[in-house]
Amino acid sequence: MLEPRRCVVVGAGFSGLSLAYWATKYGAKVTVYESQNRVGGLLDSMRLPGGHLVESAANGFLWSADFAELERDLGLRFISTKPESRKRYIFRRGRFRRWPLSVLETLGLLWHLCRGWRRRRPFAGETISAWGERMLGPAGRVLLLETALQGIYAGDPSRMSATLILGRFFQKRKRSVHKLTESEARDKRSGSHTHADGMGALTRDLRAYLESSGLCTFRMETQFSADDLSEARRRKSLVFLAVPALAAAEILSQGHPELAQGLLSVEMRPIATSTSIWSLDDGERGMPRGFGALFPRGEDIEALGVLRNHHIYNRRSDRVSETWIYGADSLRSRGIWGNREALRTHVLEERRRIGAKGLAPEAFECYFWERGIPHYTVALEEFLARADLDGIGRREGVVVFGNYTGHLGLSRIFAEARRLVRERLSDG
Ligand SMILES: Cc1cc2nc3c(=O)[nH]c(=O)nc-3n(C[C@H](O)[C@H](O)[C@H](O)COP(=O)(O)OP(=O)(O)OC[C@H]3O[C@@H](n4cnc5c(N)ncnc54)[C@H](O)[C@@H]3O)c2cc1C
Repeated sequence: MLEPRRCVVVGAGFSGLSLAYWATKYGAKVTVYESQNRVGGLLDSMRLPGGHLVESAANGFLWSADFAELERDLGLRFISTKPESRKRYIFRRGRFRRWPLSVLETLGLLWHLCRGWRRRRPFAGETISAWGERMLGPAGRVLLLETALQGIYAGDPSRMSATLILGRFFQKRKRSVHKLTESEARDKRSGSHTHADGMGALTRDLRAYLESSGLCTFRMETQFSADDLSEARRRKSLVFLAVPALAAAEILSQGHPELAQGLLSVEMRPIATSTSIWSLDDGERGMPRGFGALFPRGEDIEALGVLRNHHIYNRRSDRVSETWIYGADSLRSRGIWGNREALRTHVLEERRRIGAKGLAPEAFECYFWERGIPHYTVALEEFLARADLDGIGRREGVVVFGNYTGHLGLSRIFAEARRLVRERLSDG
């Protein structure tokens, strides 16, 4: 009988857990190395006194058939969003609006769209701002495109790569590597979903499932090094580095110095989130009822956006639960970055400025991520085009994978992990 292929996965964040999951599903034996004493990486969930759920990073994932498979394996049911969460808002001129453009601005947007349609695909090296100006005109660029993207990527649109962020919408859809079963084909769920007890619980359940499969072992509190990589390769293990770019650079510094140098140049954007719990009366008045709202630059609000958690999923809170999201620049210039109490006061000021009620929340929690989200710049686009990560995986059995390799959303990470594992395992 053939020995199962041995894989090493470094990092037990969502990327590493996804790789380990698919590798065991395809019959490989996996060892996961994680430097911390818990799995999940950026993903974690906690409950404040009163049972209110707080997420540290992503609060859900976009539904796909891959998650239906995971759901079945974990023996649970993911929860979908509430109907009212379909409403999303943009704050402009003192009001939350479903559509922020005036009639004239809308006509300008349509004119730009018609004029640019034939060349709608982003050019190599084109920035988000340049693409937005070309395709949507000035109002559409600032109030729709840049505002929407700042809430997801927290980046600088004049440096962000249109190809990395929008390119996939202009490509032929890659066929899934998975043929749908009948029940999956009947499953018409879509949109955001999450674990009933939060994303931290999802990562813990995934670990328990992997350990119970008998194919996967976790080495916790173990920092994987360049020497460990040489040893794993000597044993002919297929190695997946699912760690942030900086950590991957360190591990690759001996064997792949050029790649390591490139990884060192991957920029990360700092991001802060502040979740507060309010009584229904205080929390709801003056705030939009829906998924949340985005704040365009120039509207005198420093937050990038606010999520209205209690309108998104059930079981988050029986009160009003909000998560305000900030980039670091504005918080640093005011001395708020890293200061929990100052951030709490700042959120109250911003709430007051937009006309919301409420003097003090009932509970409050915040996270400051110094290296939160990759900055999807034109320089990163150029690096990924040069680096040939797929080629290195194929030739040398070392796969570099994470949100900075071009897949921010968790559902894209999950799907891409499946594709990569399948391809690399079939390399033999
Ligand atoms: C505030 C915020 C909100 C977000 N919201 C969303 C959202 O709504 N939807 C969405 O899809 N995405 C969202 N994201 C992005 C998403 O959370 C991340 O893309 C994803 O969690 C990254 O997972 P990862 O495994 O690639 O990296 P990480 O979570 O950083 O995991 C890397 C792991 O590697 C370990 N490690 C590092 N070095 C070593 C080493 N040498 N040896 C062993 N282990 C090592 C680390 O300890 C860590 O556990 C958000 C991110 C943030 C910060």
